[in-house]
Amino acid sequence: MSRKSKPKSRIHKLAVDSIKRIDYLCDQKFKTMTNRTFTMIKPDATEKGHTGGILQMINKAGYRIVAMKMTHLSKEKAGEFYAVHKERPFYQELVDFMSRGPITAAILEKENAVEDFRKLIGATNPANAEEGTIRKIYAASVGENAIHGSDSDENAAIEGAFFFSKLEQF
Ligand code: ATP
Ligand code: MG
Repeated sequence: MSRKSKPKSRIHKLAVDSIKRIDYLCDQKFKTMTNRTFTMIKPDATEKGHTGGILQMINKAGYRIVAMKMTHLSKEKAGEFYAVHKERPFYQELVDFMSRGPITAAILEKENAVEDFRKLIGATNPANAEEGTIRKIYAASVGENAIHGSDSDENAAIEGAFFFSKLEQF
């Protein structure tokens, strides 16, 4: 009997099925990840009691909360989170601000999550933010701008993993 026509063993079929299953799960995970973003309600908004109002806007915009926690970043952790801005003149100010009080971190899910969330929060400087955006309503200045939103799918996944283990994502 040639190699080609040899009947497949049960083990071979099981192995093929397992590989197909892993491929399927990877595809599903990829699809999910591209529909997720990460946010933090920053210390200024927490201090002013805006957490509830901001979460309501996020909810009304159609986001599902995949993970959420209130926590207080150390200077070290805040610096690590915003390490991409290390060389910028406002870096120390940003680290001091982000570690000044509690924040609420969350992973959010919706179609086109990253892009739509950036629209929902508005421009970095609230003076330039469109009417009805979270920063226009709740932010005071370019430094103290109430909320963070990931700027890409890749960063959303990295930032989500910075705060939440897989077991904390629902
Ligand atoms: P975030 O990453 O927090 O969502 P962003 O993507 O709109 O904000 P970035 O350019 O990534 O803006 O800046 C990160 C954060 O650094 C800003 O949200 C703000 O808190 C702070 N920041 C940016 N520019 C300035 C500035 N000129 N002066 C003071 N702080 C600034
Ligand atoms: Mg940014």
